[in-house]
Amino acid sequence: MSAQRVFRCFKYMERAGDKITGAAGPLFVFLAWVLLSLGAVSFFNVIQPTLRLPYISTPICVLIAVNLFGHYYYACTVPPGFITDPPLHPKNNILWAKKRKTARNIALTGVRWSDDVAITKATYTKCKRCGEMRPERAHHCRICNRCVLKYDHHCPVWINGCIGLHNERHFILFMLYLIISAWTFTICGWPHVLDALGWDDHTGDAWKHWSPSITFLLTYILAAVLGFAVTIMAGWHFWTVSNGETSVEAQDHDVYRRVAKGRGEDFVNSYDLGKLKNLQLFFNIGKTGYPLYTLLFPFRCEPYTDGRAWARRPGYERHSGLRAGEELTDDDEE
Ligand SMILES: [Zn+2]
Ligand SMILES: [Zn+2]
Repeated sequence: MSAQRVFRCFKYMERAGDKITGAAGPLFVFLAWVLLSLGAVSFFNVIQPTLRLPYISTPICVLIAVNLFGHYYYACTVPPGFITDPPLHPKNNILWAKKRKTARNIALTGVRWSDDVAITKATYTKCKRCGEMRPERAHHCRICNRCVLKYDHHCPVWINGCIGLHNERHFILFMLYLIISAWTFTICGWPHVLDALGWDDHTGDAWKHWSPSITFLLTYILAAVLGFAVTIMAGWHFWTVSNGETSVEAQDHDVYRRVAKGRGEDFVNSYDLGKLKNLQLFFNIGKTGYPLYTLLFPFRCEPYTDGRAWARRPGYERHSGLRAGEELTDDDEE
């Protein structure tokens, strides 16, 4: 078998894999909703009534749960920013957060400057797969079959869709609240595990909650496993966000760094404005964005850009250490 035939065979398997994950996606998301709901029921039925200082702990637990389900709902339902979608405008209703007073009349499009951040126009390339002109940081998703603004990745299991410019904030906050929920469940739920197994001799009596003990045990195992797994996943995502990179860029920039190093140069990511500023821009909580408290509620928020202009590191209109023609594109795979 020639190398080309092997390559074509792999491509075929990859496409078949895409189709299967695409078809199974709704089932995974449905399952995730069921399991998260069972977890919440177990928590509020078994664990929450035994927490100390109920006047404080109850509202905090409710707030965490509202954030968990709210951000999950938005991560799944807000379109990631397909290149052909009309621009997304915030609505003037209770679901949308209010911007800082000083930021309310600033348009998101085009080139602009706040006192400390320069935002300049993106360069455009034509996508060889869908034929659309797309700004830098947009990539083509093979499963959605469209280009997505600030494409991060296609999540087949949790979201059954792409993570991009418009839902990445909800996605990251969903992971954050999932970690808080899973660890709270695991730590505060431990005394009830012995109870559910019937091993706790001190209380002496049977399981006294209306939800079955088997549901509690299963959701407890799930919470412990998810707590570990999602902490690692989210840790990596936070790291890339704080470096001013998407998941795709984190991989591409590693290659650019090696290439530049081979020439004795340093690669500099022009989207990297320093850890704090990168996080502020990602969550849009800078001077031209939303107040800090918007991180505590599942509000809709718009990103700091329309995806067609990007904040740059002072003095860097483009990445340094990368020569023309060295950029990795997602067109090369065919
Ligand atoms: Zn495309
Ligand atoms: Zn996609």
